[in-house]
Amino acid sequence: MSYSKTIKLEIMLIIVFNAVMLFIFMQVDMSEKIFDYVKHFESFEIDEIIPLSFTVALSLSFFIVRRYYETKKLYFKSEELAIRDPLTELYNRRYAENMFHFENERFKRGKKQLSILIIDIDNFKIINDSYGHNIGDAVLLRFSKIIQSTVRKIDTASRWGGEEFLIICPETNLKEANMTAKRLLMTINKEVFREVGHITASIGVVSLSADESFKDVVSRADKCLYEAKNSGKNRYVSA
Ligand code: GH3
Ligand code: MG
Ligand code: MG
Repeated sequence: MSYSKTIKLEIMLIIVFNAVMLFIFMQVDMSEKIFDYVKHFESFEIDEIIPLSFTVALSLSFFIVRRYYETKKLYFKSEELAIRDPLTELYNRRYAENMFHFENERFKRGKKQLSILIIDIDNFKIINDSYGHNIGDAVLLRFSKIIQSTVRKIDTASRWGGEEFLIICPETNLKEANMTAKRLLMTINKEVFREVGHITASIGVVSLSADESFKDVVSRADKCLYEAKNSGKNRYVSA
């Protein structure tokens, strides 16, 4: 059950519980009984309990409201952390896979094309070996920002693995996906990465066929990527 549904259900239960209690109190003439009791035992100063219970209820309500907003904030933060890659802050693999299934359903209904791109940085091991792991991380971060700002808002850019990225492009045919790949390669080629200079990447581009599974479409994109690597890198291959 979602967070807000649980909260709503609990509020409903509290209201129902209090309504039932109010009904019972009315049936047993609760206030008259308290009044009699207070009159009989004036030395106990029980009558202070009534305004006191009111202030206690007020402070508890304040406490509950504050805790509610804090928990809500933490809940959304933890949800966000669960779907993001900590280094690049792009979506992670799990999120990308879920998004693919969601877009695949839309693709089946709408018959609009769905394409994916797998991007792999060329010779990244050499960057790590020459400049160190921290610089490698900085390159990954900058590279991710470039991807994020080059793709459209409706596309999902994710970190697929070490120096590999997967982009899901809904409502995109193969020709349009190729254009995205071309645009990405051009932007990457132009960028000067701090300390490292120019880097390149290779891309596999595929459009989903009817009833194709996520595993199959990723494996086809991987084959294209492999071809791009084998034919000289810094290019895209599509199928
Ligand atoms: P190719 O052009 O064929 O793709 O070669 P490559 O060197 O890019 O590929 P390879 O698979 O040989 O090396 C990838 C390297 O990426 C190895 C691994 O240490 C590095 N790597 C993976 N994840 C991270 C990370 O989070 N940070 C850093 N700095 N390096 C990483
Ligand atoms: Mg790789
Ligand atoms: Mg690589």
